[in-house]
Amino acid sequence: MKAIHVHEFGNPEVMKLEETEDPKPAKGEVVVKIHAAGLNPVDTYIRSGLYPFKPPLPYTPGMDGAGIVESSGEGVTRVKVGDRVYTAGTISGSYAEKALCKESQVYHLPEKITFKQGAAIGTPYATAYYALFYRAHAIPGETVLVHGASGGVGIAAVQFARASGMKVIGTSGTEKGRGLVIEQGAHHVFDHNSPGYLEEILRTTDGKGVDVILEMLANVNLGKDLTILAKNGRVVVIGSRGTVEIDPRNTMVRNASILGMILMSASENETFSIHSALIAGLENRTLRPVIGREYPLSEAALTHHEVIESKAFGKIVLIP
Ligand code: NAP
Repeated sequence: MKAIHVHEFGNPEVMKLEETEDPKPAKGEVVVKIHAAGLNPVDTYIRSGLYPFKPPLPYTPGMDGAGIVESSGEGVTRVKVGDRVYTAGTISGSYAEKALCKESQVYHLPEKITFKQGAAIGTPYATAYYALFYRAHAIPGETVLVHGASGGVGIAAVQFARASGMKVIGTSGTEKGRGLVIEQGAHHVFDHNSPGYLEEILRTTDGKGVDVILEMLANVNLGKDLTILAKNGRVVVIGSRGTVEIDPRNTMVRNASILGMILMSASENETFSIHSALIAGLENRTLRPVIGREYPLSEAALTHHEVIESKAFGKIVLIP
Protein backbone atom coordinates (compact mmCIF):
# COMPACT_ATOMS: atom_id res chain seq x y z
CA MET A 1 0.00 0.00 0.00
CA LYS A 2 0.98 3.66 -0.27
CA ALA A 3 1.45 5.83 2.82
CA ILE A 4 2.96 9.16 3.76
CA HIS A 5 6.20 8.69 5.69
CA VAL A 6 8.05 11.23 7.83
CA HIS A 7 11.71 10.20 8.20
CA GLU A 8 12.82 13.42 9.92
CA PHE A 9 10.95 16.25 11.66
CA GLY A 10 10.86 19.52 9.73
CA ASN A 11 8.92 21.49 7.12
CA PRO A 12 5.89 20.02 5.28
CA GLU A 13 8.13 18.73 2.48
CA VAL A 14 9.59 16.06 4.81
CA MET A 15 6.38 14.10 4.12
CA LYS A 16 6.97 11.56 1.34
CA LEU A 17 4.45 9.25 -0.33
CA GLU A 18 6.05 5.80 -0.29
CA GLU A 19 5.24 2.14 -0.88
CA THR A 20 5.06 0.12 2.33
CA GLU A 21 3.80 -3.20 3.70
CA ASP A 22 0.10 -3.59 4.45
CA PRO A 23 -0.63 -3.52 8.20
CA LYS A 24 -1.81 -6.75 9.87
CA PRO A 25 -4.22 -6.62 12.80
CA ALA A 26 -3.18 -8.26 16.09
CA LYS A 27 -5.57 -9.13 18.91
CA GLY A 28 -8.07 -6.30 19.49
CA GLU A 29 -7.02 -4.42 16.34
CA VAL A 30 -8.58 -3.73 12.95
CA VAL A 31 -7.29 -2.56 9.57
CA VAL A 32 -9.36 0.16 7.93
CA LYS A 33 -9.15 0.77 4.17
CA ILE A 34 -9.02 4.57 4.26
CA HIS A 35 -11.31 6.39 1.79
CA ALA A 36 -10.56 9.84 3.23
CA ALA A 37 -8.13 11.12 5.88
CA GLY A 38 -8.79 14.26 7.91
CA LEU A 39 -6.10 16.87 8.45
CA ASN A 40 -5.77 18.52 11.87
CA PRO A 41 -3.50 21.44 12.81
CA VAL A 42 -1.83 19.20 15.43
CA ASP A 43 -0.54 16.97 12.58
CA THR A 44 1.59 19.96 11.48
CA TYR A 45 2.90 20.66 14.99
CA ILE A 46 3.95 17.01 15.40
CA ARG A 47 5.57 16.90 11.94
CA SER A 48 7.59 20.04 12.70
CA GLY A 49 9.14 18.35 15.76
CA LEU A 50 8.13 21.27 18.00
CA TYR A 51 5.22 19.48 19.71
CA PRO A 52 5.84 17.92 23.15
CA PHE A 53 4.70 14.53 21.80
CA LYS A 54 7.14 13.11 19.23
CA PRO A 55 6.41 9.73 17.57
CA PRO A 56 9.38 7.48 16.84
CA LEU A 57 10.68 7.97 13.28
CA PRO A 58 9.72 7.09 10.64
CA TYR A 59 6.00 7.54 11.15
CA THR A 60 2.79 8.17 9.19
CA PRO A 61 0.82 11.25 10.32
CA GLY A 62 -2.92 11.46 10.91
CA MET A 63 -5.44 10.44 13.54
CA ASP A 64 -8.69 10.95 11.66
CA GLY A 65 -10.01 9.01 8.72
CA ALA A 66 -12.98 7.07 7.40
CA GLY A 67 -13.32 3.92 5.36
CA ILE A 68 -14.21 0.25 5.49
CA VAL A 69 -12.99 -2.40 7.92
CA GLU A 70 -10.79 -4.69 5.82
CA SER A 71 -9.63 -7.17 8.45
CA SER A 72 -9.88 -7.65 12.18
CA GLY A 73 -7.81 -9.41 14.83
CA GLU A 74 -8.90 -11.88 17.46
CA GLY A 75 -11.48 -10.73 19.99
CA VAL A 76 -12.82 -7.73 18.04
CA THR A 77 -16.56 -7.39 18.60
CA ARG A 78 -17.39 -3.72 18.07
CA VAL A 79 -17.07 -3.82 14.26
CA LYS A 80 -16.79 -6.47 11.55
CA VAL A 81 -15.16 -6.74 8.14
CA GLY A 82 -17.09 -4.63 5.62
CA ASP A 83 -18.42 -2.08 8.15
CA ARG A 84 -18.24 1.63 7.32
CA VAL A 85 -16.34 3.37 10.12
CA TYR A 86 -14.58 6.60 11.09
CA THR A 87 -11.41 6.63 13.18
CA ALA A 88 -10.60 8.72 16.22
CA GLY A 89 -6.92 7.93 16.55
CA THR A 90 -4.96 5.20 14.80
CA ILE A 91 -1.91 3.07 15.60
CA SER A 92 -0.22 3.40 12.21
CA GLY A 93 -1.45 6.83 10.93
CA SER A 94 -4.34 7.79 8.66
CA TYR A 95 -2.41 9.46 5.79
CA ALA A 96 -2.30 6.10 4.05
CA GLU A 97 -4.34 3.68 1.97
CA LYS A 98 -4.85 1.51 5.08
CA ALA A 99 -4.65 2.27 8.79
CA LEU A 100 -4.15 -0.07 11.73
CA CYS A 101 -6.41 0.90 14.65
CA LYS A 102 -7.32 -0.36 18.07
CA GLU A 103 -10.90 -1.55 18.20
CA SER A 104 -11.64 1.32 20.59
CA GLN A 105 -10.49 3.87 17.96
CA VAL A 106 -13.14 3.00 15.35
CA TYR A 107 -16.81 3.95 15.35
CA HIS A 108 -19.66 3.13 12.97
CA LEU A 109 -20.22 5.79 10.35
CA PRO A 110 -23.94 6.55 10.00
CA GLU A 111 -25.32 5.69 6.56
CA LYS A 112 -26.00 9.22 5.35
CA ILE A 113 -22.52 10.48 6.26
CA THR A 114 -19.96 10.28 3.44
CA PHE A 115 -16.40 9.02 3.97
CA LYS A 116 -15.08 12.58 3.46
CA GLN A 117 -17.41 13.82 6.18
CA GLY A 118 -16.37 10.85 8.30
CA ALA A 119 -12.77 12.03 8.10
CA ALA A 120 -13.87 15.35 9.62
CA ILE A 121 -15.43 13.86 12.76
CA GLY A 122 -12.87 12.25 15.09
CA THR A 123 -10.77 15.12 16.45
CA PRO A 124 -12.85 18.25 15.67
CA TYR A 125 -16.25 17.02 16.86
CA ALA A 126 -14.91 15.27 19.95
CA THR A 127 -12.90 18.40 20.84
CA ALA A 128 -15.91 20.69 20.45
CA TYR A 129 -18.07 18.40 22.58
CA TYR A 130 -15.44 17.99 25.29
CA ALA A 131 -14.85 21.76 25.44
CA LEU A 132 -18.51 22.74 25.50
CA PHE A 133 -19.94 20.10 27.82
CA TYR A 134 -17.10 18.59 29.89
CA ARG A 135 -14.97 21.70 30.43
CA ALA A 136 -17.34 24.69 30.18
CA HIS A 137 -20.44 22.78 31.37
CA ALA A 138 -22.45 24.96 29.00
CA ILE A 139 -26.23 24.67 29.35
CA PRO A 140 -29.24 25.62 27.19
CA GLY A 141 -30.03 29.31 27.39
CA GLU A 142 -26.40 30.36 27.79
CA THR A 143 -24.55 32.50 25.25
CA VAL A 144 -21.52 30.87 23.62
CA LEU A 145 -18.87 32.67 21.57
CA VAL A 146 -17.05 30.32 19.22
CA HIS A 147 -13.93 32.41 18.68
CA GLY A 148 -12.73 30.93 15.39
CA ALA A 149 -15.88 29.25 14.08
CA SER A 150 -15.06 28.60 10.40
CA GLY A 151 -12.66 25.65 10.88
CA GLY A 152 -13.08 22.02 11.87
CA VAL A 153 -13.59 22.49 15.62
CA GLY A 154 -15.50 25.77 15.27
CA ILE A 155 -18.15 24.41 12.91
CA ALA A 156 -18.67 21.41 15.17
CA ALA A 157 -19.03 23.70 18.19
CA VAL A 158 -21.56 25.94 16.43
CA GLN A 159 -23.67 22.92 15.46
CA PHE A 160 -23.56 21.40 18.97
CA ALA A 161 -24.33 24.68 20.74
CA ARG A 162 -27.19 25.57 18.43
CA ALA A 163 -28.74 22.10 18.67
CA SER A 164 -28.53 22.35 22.48
CA GLY A 165 -30.51 25.58 22.77
CA MET A 166 -27.65 28.02 23.33
CA LYS A 167 -27.35 31.47 21.82
CA VAL A 168 -24.44 31.13 19.42
CA ILE A 169 -22.02 33.82 18.29
CA GLY A 170 -19.23 32.88 15.88
CA THR A 171 -16.26 34.62 14.29
CA SER A 172 -14.31 34.23 11.06
CA GLY A 173 -11.71 36.33 9.26
CA THR A 174 -13.39 36.06 5.85
CA GLU A 175 -16.78 36.85 4.37
CA LYS A 176 -17.04 33.31 2.99
CA GLY A 177 -16.23 31.90 6.44
CA ARG A 178 -18.80 34.13 8.11
CA GLY A 179 -21.45 32.95 5.61
CA LEU A 180 -20.60 29.36 6.48
CA VAL A 181 -20.79 30.03 10.23
CA ILE A 182 -24.30 31.50 9.89
CA GLU A 183 -25.34 28.57 7.67
CA GLN A 184 -24.21 26.15 10.38
CA GLY A 185 -26.51 27.77 12.94
CA ALA A 186 -24.83 30.77 14.57
CA HIS A 187 -27.26 33.55 15.54
CA HIS A 188 -24.60 36.23 14.98
CA VAL A 189 -21.23 36.31 13.26
CA PHE A 190 -18.34 38.79 13.47
CA ASP A 191 -14.96 39.33 11.86
CA HIS A 192 -12.19 38.68 14.41
CA ASN A 193 -9.88 40.98 12.43
CA SER A 194 -12.22 43.97 12.49
CA PRO A 195 -11.60 46.70 15.08
CA GLY A 196 -14.49 47.07 17.50
CA TYR A 197 -15.95 43.59 17.00
CA LEU A 198 -15.70 42.78 20.71
CA GLU A 199 -17.87 45.79 21.55
CA GLU A 200 -20.36 44.60 18.94
CA ILE A 201 -20.42 41.16 20.58
CA LEU A 202 -21.08 42.80 23.96
CA ARG A 203 -23.97 44.75 22.41
CA THR A 204 -25.62 41.52 21.22
CA THR A 205 -25.69 40.41 24.88
CA ASP A 206 -27.18 43.75 26.04
CA GLY A 207 -23.86 44.43 27.79
CA LYS A 208 -24.05 41.33 30.02
CA GLY A 209 -21.26 39.49 28.23
CA VAL A 210 -21.00 35.93 26.98
CA ASP A 211 -21.22 32.95 29.32
CA VAL A 212 -18.79 30.70 27.47
CA ILE A 213 -15.97 31.33 25.00
CA LEU A 214 -14.45 28.47 23.01
CA GLU A 215 -11.09 29.93 22.05
CA MET A 216 -9.17 28.72 18.97
CA LEU A 217 -6.29 31.23 19.16
CA ALA A 218 -5.69 32.09 22.80
CA ASN A 219 -2.29 33.72 22.27
CA VAL A 220 -4.09 36.44 20.29
CA ASN A 221 -7.40 36.62 22.11
CA LEU A 222 -7.29 35.49 25.75
CA GLY A 223 -6.68 38.94 27.24
CA LYS A 224 -9.57 40.38 25.20
CA ASP A 225 -11.85 37.42 25.92
CA LEU A 226 -11.72 38.20 29.64
CA THR A 227 -13.22 41.64 28.99
CA ILE A 228 -16.39 40.32 27.33
CA LEU A 229 -17.26 37.51 29.73
CA ALA A 230 -20.44 37.56 31.78
CA LYS A 231 -20.42 36.96 35.53
CA ASN A 232 -19.33 33.34 36.19
CA GLY A 233 -18.15 33.16 32.56
CA ARG A 234 -15.76 30.48 31.32
CA VAL A 235 -13.12 30.54 28.57
CA VAL A 236 -11.98 27.19 27.26
CA VAL A 237 -8.53 27.37 25.65
CA ILE A 238 -8.73 24.94 22.74
CA GLY A 239 -5.98 26.37 20.52
CA SER A 240 -2.94 28.57 21.19
CA ARG A 241 0.23 29.21 19.23
CA GLY A 242 2.28 31.37 21.59
CA THR A 243 2.15 33.49 24.73
CA VAL A 244 -0.27 36.24 25.74
CA GLU A 245 -0.58 38.92 28.39
CA ILE A 246 -3.77 39.02 30.46
CA ASP A 247 -5.08 41.23 33.27
CA PRO A 248 -6.03 38.72 36.02
CA ARG A 249 -8.32 41.34 37.58
CA ASN A 250 -10.69 40.77 34.63
CA THR A 251 -11.26 37.24 35.95
CA MET A 252 -11.73 38.46 39.56
CA VAL A 253 -14.46 41.00 38.89
CA ARG A 254 -16.43 38.45 36.90
CA ASN A 255 -15.82 35.35 39.01
CA ALA A 256 -14.54 33.95 35.73
CA SER A 257 -12.61 30.79 34.87
CA ILE A 258 -9.95 30.03 32.26
CA LEU A 259 -10.02 26.34 31.44
CA GLY A 260 -7.35 24.58 29.42
CA MET A 261 -8.12 21.38 27.57
CA ILE A 262 -6.46 18.65 25.57
CA LEU A 263 -8.65 16.00 24.02
CA MET A 264 -6.13 13.25 24.81
CA SER A 265 -6.90 13.71 28.50
CA ALA A 266 -10.46 12.38 28.05
CA SER A 267 -10.77 8.95 29.68
CA GLU A 268 -11.81 5.85 27.74
CA ASN A 269 -15.33 6.05 29.20
CA GLU A 270 -15.60 9.77 28.42
CA THR A 271 -14.36 9.12 24.87
CA PHE A 272 -16.96 6.39 24.33
CA SER A 273 -19.68 8.65 25.70
CA ILE A 274 -18.58 11.59 23.52
CA HIS A 275 -18.65 9.44 20.37
CA SER A 276 -22.07 8.08 21.30
CA ALA A 277 -23.31 11.69 21.35
CA LEU A 278 -21.57 12.45 18.04
CA ILE A 279 -23.15 9.46 16.32
CA ALA A 280 -26.61 10.42 17.61
CA GLY A 281 -26.11 13.95 16.25
CA LEU A 282 -24.89 12.64 12.89
CA GLU A 283 -27.90 10.34 12.66
CA ASN A 284 -30.43 13.04 13.44
CA ARG A 285 -28.60 15.51 11.15
CA THR A 286 -27.93 18.16 13.80
CA LEU A 287 -24.25 17.47 13.04
CA ARG A 288 -23.19 17.97 9.43
CA PRO A 289 -19.39 17.92 8.88
CA VAL A 290 -18.36 20.45 6.22
CA ILE A 291 -15.56 19.66 3.76
CA GLY A 292 -13.81 22.77 2.52
CA ARG A 293 -11.01 21.34 0.39
CA GLU A 294 -9.89 17.90 -0.74
CA TYR A 295 -6.55 16.79 -2.16
CA PRO A 296 -4.88 13.54 -3.19
CA LEU A 297 -2.57 11.98 -0.58
CA SER A 298 0.42 13.03 -2.71
CA GLU A 299 -0.40 16.68 -1.85
CA ALA A 300 0.00 16.21 1.91
CA ALA A 301 2.78 18.83 2.07
CA LEU A 302 0.58 21.43 0.36
CA THR A 303 -2.26 20.79 2.81
CA HIS A 304 0.08 21.29 5.79
CA HIS A 305 0.97 24.72 4.38
CA GLU A 306 -2.71 25.48 3.77
CA VAL A 307 -4.04 24.60 7.21
CA ILE A 308 -1.61 27.00 8.87
CA GLU A 309 -1.27 29.73 6.24
CA SER A 310 -4.75 30.01 4.62
CA LYS A 311 -8.11 31.07 5.96
CA ALA A 312 -10.30 28.23 7.16
CA PHE A 313 -13.46 26.98 5.47
CA GLY A 314 -14.47 23.65 6.98
CA LYS A 315 -12.21 20.63 6.87
CA ILE A 316 -9.29 19.71 4.62
CA VAL A 317 -9.28 16.03 3.62
CA LEU A 318 -6.76 13.83 1.84
CA ILE A 319 -7.96 11.13 -0.57
CA PRO A 320 -5.68 8.06 -0.91
P1 NAP B 1 -8.78 25.07 11.52
O1 NAP B 1 -9.79 24.23 10.85
O2 NAP B 1 -7.51 25.39 10.84
O3 NAP B 1 -9.50 26.45 11.94
C1 NAP B 1 -8.80 27.50 12.56
C2 NAP B 1 -9.80 28.52 13.07
O4 NAP B 1 -9.11 29.56 13.79
C3 NAP B 1 -10.58 29.19 11.95
O5 NAP B 1 -11.93 29.33 12.32
C4 NAP B 1 -9.90 30.54 11.85
O6 NAP B 1 -10.74 31.56 11.30
C5 NAP B 1 -9.65 30.79 13.32
N1 NAP B 1 -8.81 31.97 13.56
C6 NAP B 1 -7.82 32.49 12.80
N2 NAP B 1 -7.40 33.67 13.33
C7 NAP B 1 -8.15 33.88 14.45
C8 NAP B 1 -8.22 34.91 15.41
N3 NAP B 1 -7.42 35.99 15.37
N4 NAP B 1 -9.12 34.79 16.43
C9 NAP B 1 -9.95 33.72 16.50
N5 NAP B 1 -9.93 32.72 15.62
C10 NAP B 1 -9.05 32.79 14.61
O7 NAP B 1 -8.38 24.43 12.93
P2 NAP B 1 -9.29 23.54 13.93
O8 NAP B 1 -9.12 22.12 13.59
O9 NAP B 1 -10.64 24.13 13.98
O10 NAP B 1 -8.51 23.79 15.30
C11 NAP B 1 -8.55 25.08 15.91
C12 NAP B 1 -7.43 25.18 16.95
O11 NAP B 1 -7.69 24.24 18.01
C13 NAP B 1 -6.03 24.81 16.41
O12 NAP B 1 -5.07 25.63 17.02
C14 NAP B 1 -5.84 23.37 16.88
O13 NAP B 1 -4.48 23.02 17.01
C15 NAP B 1 -6.57 23.40 18.20
N6 NAP B 1 -7.07 22.09 18.66
C16 NAP B 1 -6.85 21.75 19.95
C17 NAP B 1 -7.36 20.58 20.46
C18 NAP B 1 -7.18 20.25 21.91
O14 NAP B 1 -7.32 19.08 22.31
N7 NAP B 1 -6.89 21.25 22.75
C19 NAP B 1 -8.03 19.67 19.61
C20 NAP B 1 -8.26 20.06 18.28
C21 NAP B 1 -7.78 21.28 17.81
P3 NAP B 1 -10.50 32.26 9.84
O15 NAP B 1 -9.56 31.39 9.07
O16 NAP B 1 -11.88 32.34 9.27
O17 NAP B 1 -9.92 33.60 10.14
